[in-house]
Amino acid sequence: MIRFDNVTKVYPRSTRPALADVNVNVERGEFVFVVGPSGSGKSTLLRLALREERATGGTVLVAGQDLNSMSSRKVPRFRRQIGAVFQDFRLLPGKTVDQNVAFALQVIGKPSSAIRQLVPETLEMVGLEGKGKRLPHQLSGGEQQRVAIARAVVNKPQILLCDEPTGNLDPKISLDIVRLLDRINRAGTTVLMATHDADTVNAMRRRVVQLEEGVVVRDAEHATYLAAT
Ligand code: ADP
Ligand code: ADP
Repeated sequence: MIRFDNVTKVYPRSTRPALADVNVNVERGEFVFVVGPSGSGKSTLLRLALREERATGGTVLVAGQDLNSMSSRKVPRFRRQIGAVFQDFRLLPGKTVDQNVAFALQVIGKPSSAIRQLVPETLEMVGLEGKGKRLPHQLSGGEQQRVAIARAVVNKPQILLCDEPTGNLDPKISLDIVRLLDRINRAGTTVLMATHDADTVNAMRRRVVQLEEGVVVRDAEHATYLAAT
């Protein structure tokens, strides 16, 4: 579903590669944590998988498509098949919860009859029933991240990419969020989550791909993560 073959990424004007000869193969239906300290290359790996960046060398295959050779014209259509969640939520501040989630469907031309059904159904799934008329600033951080997750999955993507989704949340709320992602995964979505939060990783015992200075130093099933302090 997501495959990195000998992938290297060197940003312009930088000397050290952000990723160096990375090999990772994520099968359909897997839940994978990408861990490592700040600057180890986690975000770069996710940005390559979304085609927000292009690899300098190697091959990135996502949902059967070679992202290096994909023309820019095809990128928007490709991204519609992928859900994405970020540390800073990225909600539209002037729109209600309902409107934030509906917007993801409007931009891809879903009929309003489908939108009227999918939005409440998805908000219920993430535990936000009854909050559809609120604005983002009227919600807690954990609730805002649930809205972002609802928006990311409302179109039923095959893949969900999460870049530090618990980075702004306290430990108990972080655990609630990762459990929600786990539930989404068990319903069939492939999930790739970048985090440096060891407690969240260790609560789940899923596959862990560990990066250090752009290199995969460990790739283990049912694993834990001992973050350096
Ligand atoms: P992480 O997500 O693990 O914190 P990043 O992928 O953000 O790591 O960064 C990996 C390395 O690449 C770091 O050294 C960072 O400074 C560098 N980097 C990230 N984005 C850019 C960029 N747009 N231009 C130049 N260097 C970058
Ligand atoms: P994260 O690791 O959570 O993505 P960062 O603070 O590392 O957050 O990066 C935030 C933004 O700054 C990203 O878009 C990244 O591409 C860019 N960035 C990070 N490091 C560098 C760098 N050394 N030079 C230029 N841009 C960078």
